[in-house]
Amino acid sequence: MTPVATLLAVLALGQFDPYVRSRVTPGDDATQCLYWTVPSITWSQSTLGNPDTQGDTEFDAVRVSFQNWEDIFAACGNLNLQEGPRIAERNVGYVRNGDNHNVVLFRTKVCSAVVAGSDACWKEETCANQYDCWDDDQGTLAITLTTYDKRSGIIYDSDISFNASQYAFTTSNGPTCFPPVTTNCVSTDVQNTATHEIGHFVGLDHTRAAGSTMNPSAQTGEVSKRIIDSGSRDFVCSVYARGAPSQACLHPVVNEELGPKGGGCSATGASSLGPALMAWVLWRRRRAREARS
Ligand SMILES: [Zn+2]
Repeated sequence: MTPVATLLAVLALGQFDPYVRSRVTPGDDATQCLYWTVPSITWSQSTLGNPDTQGDTEFDAVRVSFQNWEDIFAACGNLNLQEGPRIAERNVGYVRNGDNHNVVLFRTKVCSAVVAGSDACWKEETCANQYDCWDDDQGTLAITLTTYDKRSGIIYDSDISFNASQYAFTTSNGPTCFPPVTTNCVSTDVQNTATHEIGHFVGLDHTRAAGSTMNPSAQTGEVSKRIIDSGSRDFVCSVYARGAPSQACLHPVVNEELGPKGGGCSATGASSLGPALMAWVLWRRRRAREARS
């Protein structure tokens, strides 16, 4: 087998592993894995929620999704997922020296309908934040945008956006339904989608392992991803093992961009790195896209 063929075979096998960790370069085992090193992560829901989901049930569905992951972390992991107060934030991504949040929000408009084709935001990839709209593929259900140090793989920020501009997000149980019918039935389930996205949030990539929460696609009416599978559970217990540091994939963990300026290393809190420190880090953002099958 040629080296290229070998690599492809390995990648193909990896797609069916019980869990696959996110990498700096997806699927490339020569690059570092992405992982959090803080003991506690606060996440917040944007106050707008999703106006089209019945009542305020979308907030509850997102909370339950995080809670199910948190239950696993509490049982065998080393970090805590904590819900912060709802915030008016509509921006995703990470701003150096800014007031960053790990936010969960629903985009209800598609950018192509509200932004002129000549707008500079298209080129700068800033339309979503600037116009509060969905700028990704219309076939994508949700995106988790993660900001991390591309050398060490350490995650500093992660935000989840739902594509409510194209999909009817529901929170009920029952038969499958399609818009305009969206009450007492399941169209695109919030918890099903959120549970999967939170997997990305904590550093999981897709796998095609049967029954995995991290399967890359979801069908209308699907609720099976609400239940976190055993492979994803094993990821938490081994990568974030209780009493141990979060596990990198490559050693030593290189973080040399942090630089020698001691003043910049003062942390603002036990669970976070100071903004001045962050300025020394090379950042990369990565989107995890979901397709509808
Ligand atoms: Zn995904």
